[in-house]
Amino acid sequence: MRGVRNLAGIGMTSRRTRARMVERLREQGIRDSRVLGAMAAVPRHVFVEEALASRAYEDTALPIGFGQTISQPYVVAKMIESLAAGRAGDRPLRKTLEVGTGCGYQAAVLAQLAVEVYSVERIQALLDRARRNLLGLKLSTLRLGYADGRGGLEKAAPFDSIIVAAVAESVPPALLQQLAPGGRMILPLKSRELGVGAERLALIERGAGGITETNLDPVRFVPLEAGKA
Ligand code: SAH
Repeated sequence: MRGVRNLAGIGMTSRRTRARMVERLREQGIRDSRVLGAMAAVPRHVFVEEALASRAYEDTALPIGFGQTISQPYVVAKMIESLAAGRAGDRPLRKTLEVGTGCGYQAAVLAQLAVEVYSVERIQALLDRARRNLLGLKLSTLRLGYADGRGGLEKAAPFDSIIVAAVAESVPPALLQQLAPGGRMILPLKSRELGVGAERLALIERGAGGITETNLDPVRFVPLEAGKA
């Protein structure tokens, strides 16, 4: 009995702290109610180690092992909002590729808003952990894969949306090739104009007139690395 009550207590607390996190995201300028709803639906504490669970709803990146981090909630929301902007429906992202599964958190948020999600990770042990983290959420439209995501995922291409969770010098050509007509990709890129080591988000769109690139917020990400580990 006590166990059950305790568990229910944790559930209540995390729901309340998650609601506060969503309120903060709104104050920080996230407007898309579908994105706010998805952020409210996914229990972020499930994706961090138990010792860090009490900090799961802070607006900060946290370590997930192997030198990697779970992305900051604001950055997750901002990137997904940019992909969904101007697109109707409760699943505005359609077929989506995520590069850099990490602990699986962002993949779970994407699964709320996309028709299908493919997420690839180059560190096998992290991918295994992501699978365990995601088990209880029963997201039937999410598929995980062990791959160097710089090559995209040829067998499932083209994608309406591509989101990259690690920073590169420039847009990987395979990802550009696998972006569907009318598709959008968001990724962090190194930015020489902003200074040494600086990064910013870039939004890439494949429109009727070709590829356009828009610069968005300065950010900080782990590097997009070559090969599988
Ligand atoms: N999406 C995660 C963020 C993980 S951090 C979240 O929800 O918080 C970025 C991840 O990208 C790391 O796990 C790292 O191992 C992975 N990564 C880096 N380079 C990669 C590559 N070339 N292919 C696939 N994954 C890569």
